Amino acid sequence: MFRKKIIILGAGLAGLSAAWHLQKRGIDCQIFEKETEVGGLCRSKKINGFTFDYDGHLLHFKHRYTLDLVKELLGNNLVEHRRNSWIYAFGTYVHYPFQANLYGLPPSIIKECLIGFIQAQKNGHHRQKCKDFLSWVKRAFGSGIAKHFMIPYNTKFWTLPPKELTSEWLDGFIPVPSLPQLLEGTIEESNKEFGYNARFWYPKKGGIGSLPSAFAERIRNIHTGCAISEINLKNKEIKFSIGNGEKFDYLISTIPLPEISNLIRSLPEEVRKSFKKLKWNSIFNLNLGVKEEDALGRHWIYFPHKEPCFFRAGFFNNFASDLAPARHTSLYAEVSYSTGRTIDKGKIASQIIKDLRKAGIVGEHSGILVRDINDIEYGYPICDKNYKLARGKILGELAKHNIVSCGRYGSWRYMSMEETMLEGKTATDRFR
Ligand SMILES: Cc1cc2nc3c(=O)[nH]c(=O)nc-3n(C[C@H](O)[C@H](O)[C@H](O)COP(=O)(O)OP(=O)(O)OC[C@H]3O[C@@H](n4cnc5c(N)ncnc54)[C@H](O)[C@@H]3O)c2cc1C
Repeated sequence: MFRKKIIILGAGLAGLSAAWHLQKRGIDCQIFEKETEVGGLCRSKKINGFTFDYDGHLLHFKHRYTLDLVKELLGNNLVEHRRNSWIYAFGTYVHYPFQANLYGLPPSIIKECLIGFIQAQKNGHHRQKCKDFLSWVKRAFGSGIAKHFMIPYNTKFWTLPPKELTSEWLDGFIPVPSLPQLLEGTIEESNKEFGYNARFWYPKKGGIGSLPSAFAERIRNIHTGCAISEINLKNKEIKFSIGNGEKFDYLISTIPLPEISNLIRSLPEEVRKSFKKLKWNSIFNLNLGVKEEDALGRHWIYFPHKEPCFFRAGFFNNFASDLAPARHTSLYAEVSYSTGRTIDKGKIASQIIKDLRKAGIVGEHSGILVRDINDIEYGYPICDKNYKLARGKILGELAKHNIVSCGRYGSWRYMSMEETMLEGKTATDRFR
C-alpha cells in the first residue's frame, strides 16, 4: 500500500486527471484549487440563458484511451461533429485550413500561393531541419502561403514574428497538404477532412465545463477556495494564502510555471534566472449573447490580417444548441496580447464588437444581450530560442524535490485538453 502523502495543486483537467488516476488505483491524494470551482480553463458559465465556455474548447482525440475516458465520464452527453470552419481573408471566406483551400481567393493570390508551393515541394518539410518557424513555414508551404496566411496569422496570434519562434511546438498542429490536395482545394470548393481537428467532440449539454464536473463527481478530497501562496522545499510544506499549511511527500503541481518562482523562495539563482526567460501570450476573450439567429452553422473562423482586431471567432451554439436560447447566438472572439504587444483593456471589448459588426458576424442592428469577458493571462507558452533550456532547468530542479509540474501551464507546453489529461495520468505513473 502506498503510504506517502501526495498533494495536487490545481483542479483543472491535469490536476483532476491525476487525482482520478491515483484514486482509481486506491492511492489517496488531496487536491487544492484556488478558485471556488473546479475546471480551470475548461469551465463554463450560464448567464441569462446563454452558456459560455471561458473560451472555445473543443475535444480532439488522437488516442483511443482518452476518448474512452471522456466517454466513461460524460456517458451520452457527448456528440461528435464534423468541423465547419473558415478563414476570412481578402474580403472573402475560404475553408480552413488555408494551405489546402485556396478556392475563392483573388486569382493573383492563388497564383502566388501555388507557384510558391510547387517550388517548395523539392524542400521536404521535416521540422528538425529548420532553425526557426519562419524557415519551416517557407520550406513547407512556399513563399505565397507564407506571405498571405502563415506569417500574418502567426504574428497576430503569437504576438511576435515567426522568425523568433522555433518549430518545436508544431507536433501536427499545422498539417501540410500534398500538391494534389492543394490543387483539389483550389479548383473547387472542397470540405474534405484534413488535419488533426477535422472532427471534434463536445458535450451535448452544459458546455465544456461538464467534463471537469464529471471528473470532480468521481474524486474525493477536492478543496476549492484554497490558493497556495508558498511551497517550502525544506519543510516539504505548502502554505495557503489564508495562513495554514499542509505537509507533503510528493507534489503534483499544475500551477502555471511562471508563478512557481514567487511560491518557492529557496531556488538557486541559475534556476531563478530561467523563469525570466519564459514567454507567453495572453488571450482577451469576449463572449456575446446576441439576439439574432445564425443560419450558417459555422463552428469557428480565423482572421489572419491586422483587421479585425481578433484572430478567431466561434459560435458556441453551433457546438451545442443548448448553449443559447432558440433563435439567439452565443459567440466568442479572441484577441492575443503580450508584454511585447499590449492592448487597451478599457477599449478592446468595444473594438471587438465594432469589428464583429463590420465583418458581418453580428448584424448591424442585432441586440447584444450579454457580454462576458475572460482575460486569460496564460494563453499559449511561446517556444523561442530560450524555451527548451529554461523549461528543462526549472522542471529538473522541481523534480529534485519530488515536485512533478504537469499540465499545459505546469509543464509549460502547447497542449490540448486531451494531452493535458494524459499528462495528469503520466504524472501518477511513478506511484504504485
Ligand atoms: C484560448 C484557449 C483556447 C483553447 N482551446 C482548446 C481547444 O479547443 N481544445 C483543446 O483540446 N484545448 C484547448 N485549449 C487548451 C486547454 O485549455 C488546456 O490544455 C487545459 O485546459 C489545461 O488544463 P490544466 O489543468 O493544465 O491548466 P488549468 O486549466 O489552467 O488549471 C490549473 C488550475 O490551477 C489553479 N491554480 C493556479 N494557481 C493556483 C494556486 N496558487 N493555488 C491553487 N490553485 C491554483 C487554477 O485556478 C486552475 O484551476 C485552449 C487553451 C486556450 C488558452
